[in-house]
Amino acid sequence: MRILLAEDDRIIADGLQRSLRKAGYAVDCVANGVDADTALVSQQFDLLILDLGLPKLSGIEVLRRLRARKKALPVLILTAQDGLEDRVRGLDAGADDYMSKPFALPELEARVRALTRRGTGTPTRIEFGNLSYDRSDRQVKIAGQTVILSARELGLLEILLLRAGRLVNKEHLVDHLCGWGEEVSTNAIEVYVHRLRKKLDASGITIATVRGLGYCLEKPADISVAADTQEPDGGH
Ligand code: CA
Repeated sequence: MRILLAEDDRIIADGLQRSLRKAGYAVDCVANGVDADTALVSQQFDLLILDLGLPKLSGIEVLRRLRARKKALPVLILTAQDGLEDRVRGLDAGADDYMSKPFALPELEARVRALTRRGTGTPTRIEFGNLSYDRSDRQVKIAGQTVILSARELGLLEILLLRAGRLVNKEHLVDHLCGWGEEVSTNAIEVYVHRLRKKLDASGITIATVRGLGYCLEKPADISVAADTQEPDGGH
């Protein structure tokens, strides 16, 4: 899940970014409305967290432009505590939800989960072989057993699952796994892939390396046939 955070208050932006990243989201930050608008035109996000009081271009205007482009992207607006009028204008302009500052991070995270669950057409639950991944509660199960993954491993798995069976190049992984300004080398990606491979071991699902290009998530060709052959003879 990739979130665009448009907030000019450095302290709020840093705190939000840190906690959302910890929760496994890739977060990109912009500090003014023009940069927010540019990012929304040129890139794909799963959620926009939008401060209404932004320099250069107001949050309301960013939102109006977004909706004018017929984008269904979920939008959570941040408003001043006494900003009833702002709130109304924001919701009228097409925001999905709002939070008044100051807010408690756990509450914001809960709203983010609810909004990303509604989503933009990506399925909430992804099944691949005997692995299932629920994007709403970020639970991964292999054959019904919960697997514990770090936030980064989870992010990586999600990207690979959304493109299962297809090549995912390293550039795409770097883009979607990390927000801007966050240094991540391709070496680090290799380490996450290595760890994730180990955790997927029991599933028979493999992360194939496509030399020089990237990775591809693959499941055993026919898990059901393999399971059948393991049954004792004369099963029924
Ligand atoms: Ca502001």
